[in-house]
Amino acid sequence: MSEKTIPYKIYLEESEMPTAWYNLRADMKNKPAPLLDPNTHKPMTADDLAGVFCEELIRQELDDTTAYIEIPEEIRSFYKMYRPAPLVRAYCLEEYLQTPAKIYYKFEGNNTSGSHKLNSAIAQAYYAKKQGLKGVTTETGAGQWGTALSMACSYFGLDCKVFMVKGSYEQKPHRREVMRVYGASVTPSPSTETAVGRKILAEFPGTSGSLGCAISEAVEKAVSTEGYRYVLGSVLNQVLLHQSVIGLESKAAMDKYGIKPDIIIGCAGGGSNLGGLISPFMGEKLRGEADYRFIAVEPSSCPSLTRGVFGYDYCDTGMICPLSKMYTLGSGFIPAAHHAGGLRYHGMNSVLSQLYADGLMEAVSVPQTAVFAAAEQFARVEGTLPAPESSHAIRVAIDEALKCKETGEEKTILFGLTGTGYFDMYAYEKFHNGQMDDYTPSDEELEKARASMPVVE
Ligand SMILES: *Cc1c(COP(=O)(O)O)cnc(C)c1O
Repeated sequence: MSEKTIPYKIYLEESEMPTAWYNLRADMKNKPAPLLDPNTHKPMTADDLAGVFCEELIRQELDDTTAYIEIPEEIRSFYKMYRPAPLVRAYCLEEYLQTPAKIYYKFEGNNTSGSHKLNSAIAQAYYAKKQGLKGVTTETGAGQWGTALSMACSYFGLDCKVFMVKGSYEQKPHRREVMRVYGASVTPSPSTETAVGRKILAEFPGTSGSLGCAISEAVEKAVSTEGYRYVLGSVLNQVLLHQSVIGLESKAAMDKYGIKPDIIIGCAGGGSNLGGLISPFMGEKLRGEADYRFIAVEPSSCPSLTRGVFGYDYCDTGMICPLSKMYTLGSGFIPAAHHAGGLRYHGMNSVLSQLYADGLMEAVSVPQTAVFAAAEQFARVEGTLPAPESSHAIRVAIDEALKCKETGEEKTILFGLTGTGYFDMYAYEKFHNGQMDDYTPSDEELEKARASMPVVE
């Protein structure tokens, strides 16, 4: 191979790190639809939301016009402990694939939570502390968000109460223990601690729980406990805002070497890493300054963009959260087990949903055995053990690189490697033993789940 003019890893200097988050909504002509009250179907005001969420986070959630929002000094200091995250040139993967494509990935797994979730957790904990709150509640599925929030809360001296989806709580006891290292209290959901949990348990005894159910419990706990608020690690616009640090760093690193990506790829659960990664690039596209292809990758077992409908839906099973206009499978949709836990949400962030509806972004769904095959190829040549969620992006990055091999095009591909997979060995084991199936929901199943959507005039 010829002399490499681009380094394997491009790091920014601390002084080159972003000092403001970028709010993509400011440059969108079609703004995402407002959150609605689940009972009256009227747009939620800041006052309506104040009992559930932190004040400053509500301001960020509702702000569709301010393009740059300063990152407070305290958060920037914390970021410096584990950021800037490296932008890696996947030379070894390119060589292995024998592709003329140039592949880059932004690696967000360099912290104990093992994912990008810490970028928003530390911001949310900071604003909760600043408001003088005692603690926060949340839910966690796979466990990365719960871990990230536990770390952030211990840093700022806040109580942290986590409702963890029961199936995951039992399958990943070590995740739970990491959260307890940071002082969080962890309850398997559904639990008897909340009215909504007791109701779900009575209706479905022996259920292993779901994300939508754990959200309902965490919200109920927050609004019924003095000095507490609820925080969420994905889906919301404020989370996309905080995660824009991923895209801003990626763009700054690429600009340093005059690199311009042709295709930008990210896995999509609730949409926060993808939204964060593409933000500054999508901003350029919206302002007519540059063009890129954006690809969202979702599991074929939970295909909210590729097979869902665009409409108002409940964000949780208990139907107590605001309604959001998004691509959704219906809040009653229960995705098949044994899958990348972080991608099992029925809906999608409303900014990404609007961009997809406007034809500014593409989406594909991939079956999980193909995802794990890509994960393993990647691990064997690039070294890092990827999270199953992140491996969805790897799958499509490899597929696009192989297309370049056929056509001889030297495209530049950027994808988000959102985290590491150390706690996902059960899934890798299933894959190795040939016990992993590629369950895809039938049209009838999706039709049935859609019936749970509210009718909004
Ligand atoms: C949570 C998670 C995701 C999916 O969440 P988004 O909000 O869609 O980014 C992806 N990868 C990892 C490692 C995660 O922990």
